Amino acid sequence: MSRFPSKIAVNVVFHQDVVQAMNAEIAAHPHVEVGGKLVGHVQNGRSPNPELDPAEQVRNTDFLVLGYLDAGPRAQRTPTFHLPDGLYQEALFRHLEAHDPNIEHLGTWHSHHPNGLSSLSSGDVRGYFLDVTNRNYNLDFYLATLAVDASGFDHAKHHLFVRGWRDFAVINPLSVSVIDGSNPLTALLEQGKTAVLNAAPPKVINWYETAEGENTLKEDQLWARQLLETVTLRQNRISGNLSWVGFKSQDDMTFKVRYEYLKVLSMIRPRLEVSASNYKLSFELNEGDQQHRDDILDRLILMLSDLSQEAEGGGQ
Ligand SMILES: [Zn+2]
Repeated sequence: MSRFPSKIAVNVVFHQDVVQAMNAEIAAHPHVEVGGKLVGHVQNGRSPNPELDPAEQVRNTDFLVLGYLDAGPRAQRTPTFHLPDGLYQEALFRHLEAHDPNIEHLGTWHSHHPNGLSSLSSGDVRGYFLDVTNRNYNLDFYLATLAVDASGFDHAKHHLFVRGWRDFAVINPLSVSVIDGSNPLTALLEQGKTAVLNAAPPKVINWYETAEGENTLKEDQLWARQLLETVTLRQNRISGNLSWVGFKSQDDMTFKVRYEYLKVLSMIRPRLEVSASNYKLSFELNEGDQQHRDDILDRLILMLSDLSQEAEGGGQ
């Protein structure tokens, strides 16, 4: 088994713009963790041979960090917790990629300045192993920069995760450097943030707009029409739920029957509701109940008719 150097030497160059943005973000949020996804260019970002000594594997790898995708408007951040807005970051990355086909997601950075933890937490490490082994991650190497205090980048620690390694390595600070000069990605990032934030939110497709949903509606309409009169489709203005509503006359009474589609998590679950005079009974149908819904409707009607007859009897 390969031995890990206590500090691995891998060429990592940060553009000054990235350093400034990190430090500014830390300064602006003294009490919550901040961070983002590192983006830029890489030479030899894939492992030449998983059997090689770890130090050998990254000998020819050069990271150039040109920017980072900020956590986004819907990020959740606390003194000990940092969860970015993934949809925002994805859209921002697509914007960069459209203008710079060589852009790569190189890793991540975050800060422990609010809690003073000077190393990656076990949750951080678990997450980064998942990131580097994620099929959607393009490279075999993953940078993880950790700012540990309010000085930001100056005291930051850099780590390397590699697809297939059982442990991560700390990067020798001597192999990390900062450059300045022009950085086209900085303007592109600003432009991208504006574009993504102003873009219309993704259109939500309702369950009944899918082919499967349309079929369900048609089948249920046929079922309702066999049992009820004047069946109509209604939509609740507040919940947005659709219902088939119809009437059934029985025992000199008229029952209003509503077959409503409730959204339970990502599932649609129908509810049968029967009302007459001042009474209302309802029943939520589980998957196994679907085939017995005629019986369930009959029973609800029977119970309701008993209830209202009892009430009438009690009033005499
Ligand atoms: Zn952390």
